[in-house]
Amino acid sequence: MGLLRGRQIHLDFHTSEQITGIAKDFDGEEFARTLLAAGVNSITCFSKCHHGMIYHDTKFEARHPYLERNLLKEQIEACHRYGIRIPIYISVGFDEFMAAKHPEWICVDCEGKHIGAGPLQAGWHNLCLNSPYVDYICAQTEEVLDMFGDEVDGLFFDIVSQEECCCRNCMKSMMSAGLNPESSEDRNKFAARVVVSFKERIADVIRAKNPKCGIFSNAGHIGPAIKSSLSSYSHLELESLPSGGWGYEHFPVSARYARNLGLEFLGQTGKFHKSWADFGGFKTQAALEYECFTALALGGGCEVGDQLHPSGRLTKATYKLIGDVYKQVEQKEPWCRDARPRTEIGVVTPELVNPGVPRQMCPIAAGVFRMLNELHYQYDFIDLEMDLPKYKVVILPDILRLNAQQASVLNDYVHGGGKLVVSYESGMSGNGHEFLIDNMPAKVKGDAPFSPDFLVAEAPIADGIPESEHVMYERGFEIEPSASAKSLASVWKPYFNRDFKHYCSHFHTPVEGPAGYPGIVMNDNIVYAAYPIFGMYKRHGARVYRDMLMNALKLLLPDEKKLVVTNAPTTADITLNYQPAEDRYVLHILHYIPERRYSHADTIEDILPIYRVAVDLNLPKGYDIARIVPDGETIITTRLGDKLSFVVPKIEGHCMLEISKTY
Ligand SMILES: [Zn+2]
Repeated sequence: MGLLRGRQIHLDFHTSEQITGIAKDFDGEEFARTLLAAGVNSITCFSKCHHGMIYHDTKFEARHPYLERNLLKEQIEACHRYGIRIPIYISVGFDEFMAAKHPEWICVDCEGKHIGAGPLQAGWHNLCLNSPYVDYICAQTEEVLDMFGDEVDGLFFDIVSQEECCCRNCMKSMMSAGLNPESSEDRNKFAARVVVSFKERIADVIRAKNPKCGIFSNAGHIGPAIKSSLSSYSHLELESLPSGGWGYEHFPVSARYARNLGLEFLGQTGKFHKSWADFGGFKTQAALEYECFTALALGGGCEVGDQLHPSGRLTKATYKLIGDVYKQVEQKEPWCRDARPRTEIGVVTPELVNPGVPRQMCPIAAGVFRMLNELHYQYDFIDLEMDLPKYKVVILPDILRLNAQQASVLNDYVHGGGKLVVSYESGMSGNGHEFLIDNMPAKVKGDAPFSPDFLVAEAPIADGIPESEHVMYERGFEIEPSASAKSLASVWKPYFNRDFKHYCSHFHTPVEGPAGYPGIVMNDNIVYAAYPIFGMYKRHGARVYRDMLMNALKLLLPDEKKLVVTNAPTTADITLNYQPAEDRYVLHILHYIPERRYSHADTIEDILPIYRVAVDLNLPKGYDIARIVPDGETIITTRLGDKLSFVVPKIEGHCMLEISKTY
């Protein structure tokens, strides 16, 4: 967080054309004062919504038929009077007004059906961004820029995504581009190109009129796919409503990647109990604190989603809730400005091979996140164009098959002294079982003959692991260790694979004896696990998967070199940042525990304090003064070599510690 405003609201206003009296009770003065009192310093308001309705005077025919005032203009005037910025929202992929008027602009699936809500369903249709609809978006954007001139602080385009589309335009374009519309891969490739062209075109339209205008295009998730169009963004907004389908793992994984893209970012959550447009639904203050303070700890600003009532009045209870959190955010901001994460591990994002589905966390990334977060490592998610040598260890989780160019980046990293933790198919060529990474500690012979099978930890990683055979619920590979490799865990096999010919009891078959090959091996630079163990940890939650692999990680990155060593529980999130201008470190400790109290999402009600948390930080000499901020209480520290040690007496929710050279 630097220049970007860090206490934002995203004020949805998708309002049916059948509702009357739109904005009849809007009062600009009351609107701006409510925001100001809640500590809000930027609010995204609507030009055009998913219904296709426009909320200001316009030359286009889609002005909301019952809009009772020039709403957006009044919102801008009121907010600017109080120094609140007001980026403008334009819905792109959904526009029901245009979908009804031009059904030929709706995306078509390969069976000829319109993509989106069915004829008897309530909901949106996906408009094709390879149709003349885009001319309308550009013209409407130009009107906004002309109408509001220098008052335009930014533009937010929503639903900037494209399904695999077989409309007449897309069929024609795919064929003239030499793509095969019968191939899903080609349809996807074309859809991705269409999105990039849209972003470039709209950015050109905006920059021609207002070169400094903020621009963001939203698609509900930010991963490596954004890189081809990054120049059309001024900043990033990471939409991630934990209770709205994204879950509590999505934001940290996405933010730990996005913060390496060179743009400032916001964590966008919602005030809702569930998801967008949950009128009358409120999340707890503890949950909103956790979501906002996590954004701060990861180097982002805060943004809370709300929806304005058709009458145009903000809901007081919403701004009481947001204000109670944003006032705390405001006090914490000086320790978050331009904060740079200190990290020791780079995790290559599995999205390099599996882009995943927006809003859905790739379970493999979530598994890595769980393991590293629970043990308080400092890490980023990265792609292979980022700076690898700055990490002591790079993790390649489960599915990262490589091409020659990617393999050469990793080989250079290892030859330069870098260490790797590799699991399952990662490091292999596109197909087959051959590794493209030099000096792997094992060769893969093929799929393991038995599954489930069992792992027995050997001495180097046995710390804290019950002395037993531990079931591996998913099939791994049978491997042959290289001559210089050390076995860290041996595979044990069951009597037989369970099937109709032979089975034993309710579940999998009991263990018979050693299988004669290892399941986790290492050499000086590389740990290799022959199972999809990160995804398995997320899917099955067996603690022993984490403990075996993290004990193996310690052999490459010993605790003496780890940035943060602590007795804090696995439920604590700990991040270490550095602020160059102030020349100080800031340690964030968060302790909020999401709980599944209803069937679809997690909530947080109570803040459970933790006491006497011992912390050792691996910090350069001289940074010896620790204070709890913003309150200022000094903590006694001791220094031994590179290690600074102290005990934090109490953490209730979120605690920040400043570590500096001087008072
Ligand atoms: Zn199309």
